[in-house]
Amino acid sequence: MSPIVFVSLGPGEADLITLKGLKVLQTADCIFYPATILKEGAVSSRALDIMMELDIDPKKTIPFHVPMSKDRSPAIDAYNRVSEEAVQQYLLNLKVAIVAEGDAGFYSSIHYIFDTLVKQNIRVEHIAGIPAFIASGALAGIHIVKQEEELNVIPGIISASSLIDKINSGKVVVIMKVSQCQDAVKECISAIPTATFHYFENVGVKEKEYYTCDTQEIISRKFPYFSLMIIHQ
Ligand code: SAH
Repeated sequence: MSPIVFVSLGPGEADLITLKGLKVLQTADCIFYPATILKEGAVSSRALDIMMELDIDPKKTIPFHVPMSKDRSPAIDAYNRVSEEAVQQYLLNLKVAIVAEGDAGFYSSIHYIFDTLVKQNIRVEHIAGIPAFIASGALAGIHIVKQEEELNVIPGIISASSLIDKINSGKVVVIMKVSQCQDAVKECISAIPTATFHYFENVGVKEKEYYTCDTQEIISRKFPYFSLMIIHQ
């Protein structure tokens, strides 16, 4: 039986998937992808947008809805359902893929599905991809870390004082999910005028991509879900 393959799609620009990932999607029998149901009832899925740009047959794509609540249990239920469905297809000897944005093993909640399958002794494979912060560094033309510098990647749950301490310790800081700590970041911008704050939204996504290192612009902006920051002292 073919393993269930976790394919990393890259941050948003279709061309940033790997050839290995693309080949798996082209030959898969079914592809599970994460989607969000918006308040108005519309369905939004960056993963599907990327696959459509890559000309993947929509008939073999199957959405799973990831609830966006703070309570993790509805999301866990959704992941358990996907695991079961994926196993059913796998046992029919079909080629199954499960996709994630960026890299599937980097702050990616679908790794929960991966772990569930491993526990059941199902064969799985993870195809590496370009995480959003790497694509962001390239967009801004910055050298994210050089020589002896250390990188600290954090998930957006931080106070202004802890963030200030990290930056003052000389580490380069990447903040994922920066929308969750925008007040702390804005306070930090005023507190450390010598630091450079590189702010990104929707990297690689046509007409939505945005980058600035102008602190006034950052302060006036409301950070969306697909935003992140790279900070250099
Ligand atoms: N697996 C992804 C990270 C998922 S966590 C990766 O490898 O990059 C979700 C967070 O990733 C978002 O809140 C945002 O901080 C960041 N992100 C993902 N795609 C992005 C994009 N295209 N532009 C900016 N930030 C992005």
